[in-house]
Amino acid sequence: MESTGSAVSDRRKSKPETLLATLGRTSTHDSGFVNPPLVRGSTVLHPNVEELGQRARRRAAGDDAMPVSYGRYGTPTHHEFCDALTALEGGHRSWALPSGQTACAIAIQAYVRPGDHVLVPDSVYAPVRRFCSHTLARYGIGTTFYPPRIGENIESMFRADTRVLFVESPGSLTFEVQDLPMLARVAHRHGAVCVADNTWATPLYQQPLALGADVTVHAATKYIGGHSDLLLGTVTANETAWPALRDAIHQYGLIASPDDCWLALRGLRSLAARLARHRANAERLIGWLRGQPEVDRVLYPALPEDPGYALWQRDFHGASGLFGVVLAAAVPERAMQAMIDGLQLFGRGYSWGGFESLLIPVRPERTAEPLPISAPMFRISAGLEDPDDLIADLSAGFERLRERI
Ligand SMILES: *Cc1c(COP(=O)(O)O)cnc(C)c1O
Repeated sequence: MESTGSAVSDRRKSKPETLLATLGRTSTHDSGFVNPPLVRGSTVLHPNVEELGQRARRRAAGDDAMPVSYGRYGTPTHHEFCDALTALEGGHRSWALPSGQTACAIAIQAYVRPGDHVLVPDSVYAPVRRFCSHTLARYGIGTTFYPPRIGENIESMFRADTRVLFVESPGSLTFEVQDLPMLARVAHRHGAVCVADNTWATPLYQQPLALGADVTVHAATKYIGGHSDLLLGTVTANETAWPALRDAIHQYGLIASPDDCWLALRGLRSLAARLARHRANAERLIGWLRGQPEVDRVLYPALPEDPGYALWQRDFHGASGLFGVVLAAAVPERAMQAMIDGLQLFGRGYSWGGFESLLIPVRPERTAEPLPISAPMFRISAGLEDPDDLIADLSAGFERLRERI
């Protein structure tokens, strides 16, 4: 199967919910089955020597529209998922990688060489921070962590050798919304590539490429997969940014397994319906939490009093179900821990975006400027359960918390 660039652009006229039901089904038309087959494979057989040589030459020349030639350059299942994602993000090409972390790392590394410099928000996903300050540093690439709400002052942080401006909006622990169109404009003025981690919003609720970013990254592990049963990352680039990213991906030999791509494609089918329920449950939980005297505030850009609300209204089409909770400064850590340890429905585990609710304590790491919060904090990923049952679980948790104040 070919990666079908033109079919992708035709479909962009449909509404997102329709796209979720129709995209990524091109290889099923002969069999009649609704879903595409799961194709595993390394070797692809070619009809003759001439074709073997031709595909190798097309591959070396960076021809993305060629038929699959070897499993590392994409299986039909991989291309089905990636073409669907490309249409949803409004990009040129996408690629699926073994994890969201891989996607973030390669989307930075593809654009830098020794002596270069990258700008990364202080609110960034912690393992990406470590990739920059350890791996990139070993190759002589410097990172400056900037305050996520720096605004126009980002201009002063650019150096002559700044090649990448990374954005994660909102941050997945502290939920600062970043002014992506402005940041992308400044990055381009300085000849830098703007890479945006869009995991919280998903392609349904924010389209970073339309807002000016050059590359969008997802931990498809989260909402796109949606069932806590896979690890998957994606990158989607515009036409200018794609060749360097593609070359880095192929030279490192990065590709996700077809099984995970197939599951992610299935996840896309219900993404809009799940997100609406995640959001509704998040709002119910937030409403209850805000009525508790031990809660100082909730970090969620869709709340009118949130500092990111105006940007969220301008740039996003919706909100997902992940939010932060800051307790009153008088609440001791051990009281929060007792609340969390006894929860029955909320799982204590990393990741988010699955069907099941999660709740973990968080301690954001900051180096650019201190976090203006010293009270205990936790993060909720609102799942798809009945919201009254979730509130009852939290309510019992807050009783345990009160007993320890
Ligand atoms: C989880 C996460 C990642 C990394 O994804 P994995 O698939 O777990 O490697 C990257 N960015 C954000 C914002 C995340 O929440």
